[in-house]
Amino acid sequence: MTHRVAIVGAGPSGFYAADGLLRGRPDLRIDIIDRLPTPFGLVRAGVAPDHQGTKAVVRQFDRLLAQPDLRFAGNIEIGRDLTWDEVIQSYDAVVVATGMVVDRKLGIPGEDLPHVWGSWRFVAWLNGHPDFRDGPDLSGVKSVAVIGNGNVALDVARLLAKSPDEMTKSDIVPEAGAAIAAAPIADIHVIGRRGAGEASFTTNELAEMGRLARAVSVADASVLTAEAPAADPTPERLRKAKNIETLKRFAAQTPGEKPVTVHFRFHATPTAIRPGEVELSTGPLAADLVVTCIGYTGEPFPQAESVFPVGWARRGPSGTIPTNRADSHAVAKQVIDFLEDRDPKSGPDILPLCVDAEGWRRIDKAEVAAGAAQGRPRVKLVDWQALLEVAQGD
Ligand code: NAP
Repeated sequence: MTHRVAIVGAGPSGFYAADGLLRGRPDLRIDIIDRLPTPFGLVRAGVAPDHQGTKAVVRQFDRLLAQPDLRFAGNIEIGRDLTWDEVIQSYDAVVVATGMVVDRKLGIPGEDLPHVWGSWRFVAWLNGHPDFRDGPDLSGVKSVAVIGNGNVALDVARLLAKSPDEMTKSDIVPEAGAAIAAAPIADIHVIGRRGAGEASFTTNELAEMGRLARAVSVADASVLTAEAPAADPTPERLRKAKNIETLKRFAAQTPGEKPVTVHFRFHATPTAIRPGEVELSTGPLAADLVVTCIGYTGEPFPQAESVFPVGWARRGPSGTIPTNRADSHAVAKQVIDFLEDRDPKSGPDILPLCVDAEGWRRIDKAEVAAGAAQGRPRVKLVDWQALLEVAQGD
């Protein structure tokens, strides 16, 4: 008999935890449980559909799914199909890799208006998450306010700014791609409440905003005076200095040079949202669509000696996907140490009927085949029933 570990959440931190566990204890039996019938969490639903290079990390995770002692258990929701208590009682250890999937709120008037979208909901729609089938009405959207100065804000601005040709190799949901292509978007404002030096954009992602076919990125040169202190030797200093350089290049561009203009605005705090307008500390700004990209919160989970949170569930919504590898491996080591002097629990297998790795392979095959017909990496199944039917081989 060997120890059994449940990993709740089949996103990157969950898979990296499985990888760390199997490296240290190849004899472990691991169940990766997810409420969706599809694995890969944030990589499938949150990484921008045009960043296929980032999404390619799933190949590593797919290899793990082929391991005999690792089971994928999709379409299992804790609270609906199993209780946390049952999971904690039945497994020798539980890794909580549920991420953060609730949009943080600005806490200002007008935030609940229909033209205000949180980035999780917005990007999940573009990515075909079955809980987010309906997107915003973009048919009259000329001006967009993207609130936040992180990489998610850049993802949202870029996806709205890109031409249909630039999206052909993406796995954006076709209806969402068509809605963006047909929208009369002319201005996208990326709004930071602090200065350019405080923005958390990473270098390559910001530079990408200067290489868009149908959009020009601009910034106000007068606010780009912040220089990182030369005495600061950290990679952070380099990142900030490069960002300022990039924004200075944007400042030399002319708004309106291309059909879409992306305006980088700093020191502008949103204070209220009204139909067609967002009130900033710097004054009102026309906005037919507002997308808040200000971070996420997660769902609560129980604390217990045998429960080990990992990834965003442990440390909050920060860091890129590779950051999670080291983090998850460190937690996997803690789990292995925890199990060392404990006898494995005995008891029945509590997993109800689920979508297993074979079911996921059927979904994957169907999506890739649908994509091949259009020269795209995949066309996702976005409907719960269709996902479950294909998984069952119907
Ligand atoms: P983030 O980098 O933490 O950015 C959140 C932004 O929201 C910050 O600019 C923050 O401003 C702003 N904000 C928070 N509360 C606000 C408020 N009440 N009013 C106005 N602005 C507010 O987070 P993220 O963009 O959601 O990204 C999450 C993580 O995923 C990051 O580590 C990111 O690098 C990563 N990611 C990576 C990629 C990639 O590698 N391509 C793509 C997407 C995401 P302050 O700084 O002033 O608090």
